[in-house]
Amino acid sequence: MSRNFASKLRGGDWKRDLALRVVERYYGRETARKTADAMEYQGQGWLDASSNAVYAHPPTAAAGRAICPVCWMEVDPASAPQSVYRRASYFFCSEQHKQRFDSAPETFLDPVR
Ligand SMILES: [Zn+2]
Repeated sequence: MSRNFASKLRGGDWKRDLALRVVERYYGRETARKTADAMEYQGQGWLDASSNAVYAHPPTAAAGRAICPVCWMEVDPASAPQSVYRRASYFFCSEQHKQRFDSAPETFLDPVR
């Protein structure tokens, strides 16, 4: 399993951690801890393995194919919209997803850097 994919798996945690940091900054550590407890409680459903089975395996592009970084759909690089970010090429299922990626590439790459 690649490091990139592992961080995608943690995407929810990353957003939660960010939210908690904001809570902590404005309301203090104790409130943040209580919020964390509350979120943990609300998040129990996510622990059900079958509810996120779609994320259980990293998307692997077949030979000659690429993965849209926005939705992880397999695309054909020969005809897919393309962006170059930090010297890497990315291919998209649609012009809409290319635009979403272009507007905030980091969101779709490695948020836990
Ligand atoms: Zn897509």
